[in-house]
Amino acid sequence: MRAVMQPEPMGLHQILDRCETLFADRPVTVGGGAAGPTTTTYGALFAEARAFAGALAELGLRPGDRVATFAPNTREHLLAYIAVPGSGSVLHTVNIRLGSEEIAYTVEHAGDRVVLVDAALWPEWSAVTLPTCVEHVIVYGDIDELPERHGGAVVTRFADSIAGPAREGRWYRPADENEASGICYTSGTTGWPKAVVYSHRSVYLHALTLCGADTFAISEHDVVCPVVPMFHANSWNLPYASLLAGASLVLPAHRTDPAGLVECFAAGGVTFSAAVPTVWANLVAAARAGDVDPTALDSVQRVVIGGSAASETLLSELAELGIEPVHAWGMTECSPVGLIANPPADGSTAVTEETKSSQGRPMPGLELRAVEGDMPAPWDGTSIGELQISGPYVVADYYGAESGSTADKFADSEERRWLRTGDVVTVDRRGYVRLVDRTKDLVKSGGEWISSVTLENHLLAHPAVREVAVIAVPDPTWDERPLAIVAARGVDAARLRDFLADRVPRWQVPDRFEFVAEVPKTSVGKLDKKRLRTEYA
Ligand code: ADP
Repeated sequence: MRAVMQPEPMGLHQILDRCETLFADRPVTVGGGAAGPTTTTYGALFAEARAFAGALAELGLRPGDRVATFAPNTREHLLAYIAVPGSGSVLHTVNIRLGSEEIAYTVEHAGDRVVLVDAALWPEWSAVTLPTCVEHVIVYGDIDELPERHGGAVVTRFADSIAGPAREGRWYRPADENEASGICYTSGTTGWPKAVVYSHRSVYLHALTLCGADTFAISEHDVVCPVVPMFHANSWNLPYASLLAGASLVLPAHRTDPAGLVECFAAGGVTFSAAVPTVWANLVAAARAGDVDPTALDSVQRVVIGGSAASETLLSELAELGIEPVHAWGMTECSPVGLIANPPADGSTAVTEETKSSQGRPMPGLELRAVEGDMPAPWDGTSIGELQISGPYVVADYYGAESGSTADKFADSEERRWLRTGDVVTVDRRGYVRLVDRTKDLVKSGGEWISSVTLENHLLAHPAVREVAVIAVPDPTWDERPLAIVAARGVDAARLRDFLADRVPRWQVPDRFEFVAEVPKTSVGKLDKKRLRTEYA
């Protein structure tokens, strides 16, 4: 039987047209300026986004073309979130923490024609050897001197680029809701970052789901401050969820330190925010030490902690400040929020506490299983398996990956494709997931990945190093930091640190080195990381 409902495509046009029509008066606050946070409205922002969309059209951009950003959470970054998919182009939010070579790789792989760059990041950006696909670099913010060209691209100031005619009419409505709207790259253990291409449909569905009462419950009454970077998994899709709901947005720009955040929270009257544990732990510590005024947090009702595991201590410290903490699990491949640890309605205090510290239950629309061998493990809270996840806003494959190269990232059953997350979990009878280990050989420091294998390969290239294993060790500030266990002769930690600093971004260089006669191996001769983790944790 055929349904008789309208096959209107789900897409960002519905979010953008709705926000511009209904919520033009809602405020948007932006921090980071010398004079402190400033406030504008969605109406003013949309007018500027129309000017930016007009500029993109003048440059000859057509639906499906890629436009990149290299920016923190700023007003102009939000303009790109609106104007780029709102013109049918595809928004590639470049991760500013990648090394120059990786940045160049992702820009070339995505085929970006235009890049919007924050002036404060010009030193990092101009160090990138620009691939030939980039025709225009548009720079916003304060900067005295700009070259006329960067590689083969013409460099323009944002203010000059938007001087032409603005886009008129409604925002771009995709003919097919599966058209691409955005691209994020995610770092793996080895090789170049992998591309996750979101569709209009997946972004819309995920944003709508974040507005659900039992997920993040983002509503028109909220003032949302996405601290999680707009260059990292779309800031957990909070910008689009906020535009959809008509929630006021507060963007902290580069001020994600406790003092900067508190200033933004107070200026905008923030009710909801989201960040990695490091950010919240620093904020709690600053509030306790009296370095920031805790009453500036009075408006904050709930905050999401994700990206790395939230400790029970952090959850209770936030609760003591009168803020409801919500633990969530995500992955760039899942748009990115996949699990939310809201407690069940039927729970006693003990059940509530237990579930709140878990990684959570699946978001509506997603299915999960924990797989051990080839078999799904029972949901008994103790059986362990790899978390696999499936649903309409989970990636089906990586864009532009060599044929067969990503086969091990997925498992297919009769009616579904499962994403293999590389996270090892238990699932209890209510569907709450608890992370117990990770099979990916990566370190997650302050929300960003460091590949152990890459550090090991660089260290092995040092003539004095014979063997090396890099593992993640818990860290009170950054959640995890890399520790290098090295068998070497005639070299010390300082020399190895200098050696690495020339080869990887500085924040990835291990603080700790342990020198050993021989790195322990398993029976088959592999580095015994399990043993090392227990020994050095
Ligand atoms: P993001 O950091 O935005 O969630 P990434 O794709 O960079 O997305 O990283 C995904 C991985 O981060 C997960 O597979 C998991 O290993 C880890 N992770 C995310 N959220 C949590 C969490 N709440 N607890 C523990 N690990 C988490």
